[in-house]
This record gives sequence, C-alpha cells and structure tokens, in this order.
Amino acid sequence: MITAVSDYLTNGHGNAHRGMYHFSENANALYQQCREKVAQFIQAPARSDSNPDPSPDPSPDSSPEIIFTKSATESINLVAHSLQYTIDSKSSICVTTMEHHANLLPWQALCQRTGARLNILPVKADGTLDTTSLDAFLADNCALFAVCHVSNVSGVENDVKSLCQSAKQYKVPVLVDGAQAVGHMPVDVSDIDCDYYVFSGHKMYATTGIGVLYSKYPAEKHLSPLLLGGGIVNKVTSQDHQLKPGVEQFEAGSANMVGIVALLAAIEFIDDIGWPALIAHQQVLAEVLLSSLKSMDTLDVLGNPSNNSAVVSFVHRQVHSHDVASIMALDNIAVRAGHHCAQPYLTALGYKHCVRISLGCYNHKADIDRLLQALDKVGQVFL
Ligand code: PLP
Repeated sequence: MITAVSDYLTNGHGNAHRGMYHFSENANALYQQCREKVAQFIQAPARSDSNPDPSPDPSPDSSPEIIFTKSATESINLVAHSLQYTIDSKSSICVTTMEHHANLLPWQALCQRTGARLNILPVKADGTLDTTSLDAFLADNCALFAVCHVSNVSGVENDVKSLCQSAKQYKVPVLVDGAQAVGHMPVDVSDIDCDYYVFSGHKMYATTGIGVLYSKYPAEKHLSPLLLGGGIVNKVTSQDHQLKPGVEQFEAGSANMVGIVALLAAIEFIDDIGWPALIAHQQVLAEVLLSSLKSMDTLDVLGNPSNNSAVVSFVHRQVHSHDVASIMALDNIAVRAGHHCAQPYLTALGYKHCVRISLGCYNHKADIDRLLQALDKVGQVFL
C-alpha cells in the first residue's frame, strides 16, 4: 500500500474528473478501478462511471452502488442526513447499545430534528445483542435499523444476515456498520442483503480519510447529497443547479486520490494473501491471546468475542486502562485505552474504560508474548 501510494505521488498524481491531461486521466482510471475493486471486494456488482445507468429504468434490485466518502462516519451521516426529508414524528429509528458513536450520534440528531423515536436494542451481560424487542421496534413505523457487523470494543459479531431477514418482514431498510469487519473477514453484501454497508479504509490497511458507502439501490433515488460543490453538476445557473445522475452527485469536491490509491492497493494486498490464510493467522493469535488473558485473575475480558474477531478488550481490576496502555507504550506496544467511542456499550457492560488489543496480519505470536510480559510489568509498577 505504501509503495503504491509512493509510486502514485512520484509518478502520476492528478485530480480525478478535472483535467484532460495525462495525470488527471490516470487519476480517473484509478478512481474507477478502485470503485470496481471495492464492489468486487464486498460482492456488490456496482455500476461503473463509464456506464452509469446500464438499463434505461433500473429495477431497485439491479443497481447497487459504491459511493466514496471520507470515512464510515461520513457514510452514516450521509444516510442520516437524507432521512430527515422523509421521516417525521410518527417514525422511529432503531439502533443498538453496542454501536460506535459514529452509528449513534447521527441517529440521535436525526430523531431530535424530526421528532422521530430512537429505539435502542439492548445487549446481554456477555455483550451480545438481546433481540427480544427487535420485532416490536421494527413494527414501530421504523424508517431504518442501524447495526454494527462487529463491535469495535468486544469483537462480538452480529448475525447481520438474520437481522436483515427480520427487518425485511417489516420492510425496514438496514444499514450495517462494517468498519470493524471488512479488514478481518470476507464480507458479502449480496448475501447479507443489507440496504447500506459502510466502512473506512484505515481499518483495512489503507490510509485514513477514505470511506465507502454501499447502497443496494441507486442512491439518487433514496439519498440526498451531504455535500454540494464542484464535480457533481451537469448545469449551474446563478439560482439553481442540475445534479449529475449516479454516484458522482454524492462525491462533491476534489477526491482523496491518495486514499483511493491506498484503498485499491489494500484490497489487492488482502486478495493476494487470501482470506483463508488471513483468517487462520488471526484465529491462532486471537485464541492464544484470549486464553492467556482469561487465565489472569487480575483482568476482566469484555464480552464474548467471535473466533473471527481481531479485537480483544480487557479491564484491569486494580489499574486504570490509561496506565496499562502507558506502561505498554514504553515497550512500543500500541494498544488503545478509554471508552473507544462506545460509551453506552461500556456502561451497559459495567465499565467506564477498557484496554483494547487490535490484531492485524502483521502481528506474530512473539508480539503476544511481549504484551503479556508488559502486563506483568503493569503489576510490578502499580501494585
Ligand atoms: N464504526 C465502528 C465499528 C468503528 O470501529 C469505527 C472506528 O473505529 C467507526 C464506525 C468510525 O470510523 P471512522 O472514524 O473511520 O469514521
């Protein structure tokens, strides 16, 4: 990924959809290639820029789309922003307690703005979803159900396919937040059958500043652009404008070309290694890590991470998570500490903070050994 970005900046950097010269044409091609690669990566047959509307009147099911944003956060905000024009105080939105704030605050704001109810599906003590009230929430004139694929705190994986099947019975569209999933397991949006799927590049070995919104239907029929400006119009007068058809109307302003190149290269990197090898590597590490942490009576391991999960979180019973992370940082071990932008979830689990270990394909068993040694040091320093 770093080599691809470096090559691009050295030999061919240009602004996509702006110039007729070589560098800009090169950027156009990479932009288009990335859109197709993302579609393939999540099993979504996307429309191409060169052929934005393959059938004269595409059926709602026939034209999934990939929209580039700056992050999963922006993707979710785009959908929430769009719903403000179609819902009212008789509607409701359903989310869950285990969401990252990115998949909670936009819905809170939407409900505050429109008077719609915000129904929250709770979690059980083990951190998994409690779906007892799901049917009642879906039946409550629900305009959208937003749920994460994998929790960024506990690593709990939701059965999003079955949640989508339930929502379908009530004709409720589902947005799946896949930020914690895409870099760690194969995602098939056609099989999940969600209406929207969002993620960020930096959680799957690309750079920050690039995100994706997958829409099952042609977005222009269901969504309204969050940003307006250059590159998205066919015609502008002093008083009005006519938006381009297709996904481009949702991508105003100069594209993050470095992010596009990075995302393309990151997907090629994952494809080259292949999911079976990546998952096998991840599972071996996660098993060693989980069993070691669970055997320590000074720690509480949060939730019930799936065996596909690459995140494991714990709370030290006597030492604040920030202190644990600081001691680890002295040994160059990078773990996150705090509420991980999921305060309601941590509260529901009975904590204010935790330490999160996030595994990647670059980790080895030796890293876990070093981490466990650093945990011993935590005890020596603070207890
Ligand atoms: N959703 C989940 C599950 C996440 O883990 C994150 C980021 O950590 C986000 C959403 C937000 O992603 P971003 O900050 O890239 O928009």
